Amino acid sequence: MKISSDICVIGAGAVGKAAALAMARSGLSVVLVTPDAPPANPAPLADWDLRVYALNHVAHTLLSSLKVWSAMDGSRIAPVDAMAVHGDGDAAGNLDFDAYGARVDALAWIVEDGNLNRALDAALGFAAGVQRVQGSAVQLDCTVDRATVTLDSGQLIDCSLVVGADGAHSWVRTRADIGMDYRAYGQRAVVANFETTEPHHGTASQWFLGSDGIVALLPLPGKRVSLVWSAPEPLANTLLQDSPQQLCKRLQALPGQPLGEFTMLPPALPKAFPLRLIRSHSLVSHRVALIGDAAHVVHPLAGQGMNLGFADIDALLAALDRREQASDCGDARTLSRYARSRKEEVLLMQVATDGLQRLFSTELGPVKALRNLGMTAVDKLPFLKRRLMSHAFGRSLHSHTTPSS
Ligand SMILES: Cc1cc2nc3c(=O)[nH]c(=O)nc-3n(C[C@H](O)[C@H](O)[C@H](O)COP(=O)(O)OP(=O)(O)OC[C@H]3O[C@@H](n4cnc5c(N)ncnc54)[C@H](O)[C@@H]3O)c2cc1C
Repeated sequence: MKISSDICVIGAGAVGKAAALAMARSGLSVVLVTPDAPPANPAPLADWDLRVYALNHVAHTLLSSLKVWSAMDGSRIAPVDAMAVHGDGDAAGNLDFDAYGARVDALAWIVEDGNLNRALDAALGFAAGVQRVQGSAVQLDCTVDRATVTLDSGQLIDCSLVVGADGAHSWVRTRADIGMDYRAYGQRAVVANFETTEPHHGTASQWFLGSDGIVALLPLPGKRVSLVWSAPEPLANTLLQDSPQQLCKRLQALPGQPLGEFTMLPPALPKAFPLRLIRSHSLVSHRVALIGDAAHVVHPLAGQGMNLGFADIDALLAALDRREQASDCGDARTLSRYARSRKEEVLLMQVATDGLQRLFSTELGPVKALRNLGMTAVDKLPFLKRRLMSHAFGRSLHSHTTPSS
């Protein structure tokens, strides 16, 4: 049997689920293809999730409008009130941001993957206009005015637009013949959660450690923090083999860390994720649009991958809203409008995260001195700092800040 819809979203990570909800809310019929069965009874949140995201104002606004934000367990979300960035070496530079200076209630929010996905699943359970179909997409055929997706079960989905939200190794991207540039960073992000003896006061801290990579400690509710250590492969292997006590000692030794003693939280077993840069040559092709990691993968040093994905959804919705009355949602002009509107922000984030990663991984003495000087200089330039903040924490900061702040 064939299912017909306006849109077929392939991939049900957080970005795919949010896209399906957002498009259904704007009156379109959506099929969401997911390899996993929808959870019957969502499991209660227990241990602190090893996957956490710093979500910015764009993500907050989108998820609030979909009633997903309010459906999350608020007691498990930590607002980020300030950010402290530390350089490396003897003349380490410093760069500080705070919500007060940006005139917002929080710079970002730290949200667990489980909390977010549970709320998205609950919203999908109630959403009129979204049909969740279990399976993996195995074939894509496009004619001039329709696209047909075939699932591994043999199920056919006929639609006007296929939205590829199927992650870094996107099947949709390959099937749509969209090329990409891929570069492995030779690093893995080691993640684990800790309890500390001193409070973090809502501050997210980041240390650029040269050849030892980049350490981020993100605030969780209470005296807890989540570690993301982007480490070169050999160090990542060592960190994964460390005992919990050894890893705690390494964090306690971070220069100027204010959190006291660390204890690793259950499951006390760090996880690691390979880091890479993926640049899709285009965000669209005939009757296809890519969003989220299917469209772009960036280094997590700025915590922006998922935020970019949510901003893609906003942009695709805006392009769909603006389409001419007679045209369907896979119309070429609509898709190129979407691609154009995302070009600048995606490129900027790719260049910025890649550039920072390169700049801070070199051990050349003069480069080290310059980058530390540069950090301290930016810290003293309110205008530049504000520009950096609005890119990192979401466009809405533009409207909340004033030139004199
Ligand atoms: C260590 C680390 C820390 C990070 N921290 C942050 C942060 O603080 N803030 C932030 O914004 N971002 C952060 N990110 C980035 C963020 O994790 C990703 O950008 C985000 O998870 C991408 O979501 P997605 O839904 O696009 O892709 P995914 O989560 O990869 O989901 C893709 C889905 O598609 C499905 N799929 C694949 N192929 C098919 C197929 N053929 N048919 C059907 N389904 C298919 C998969 O099963 C999967 O469910 C971080 C990343 C890392 C590695």
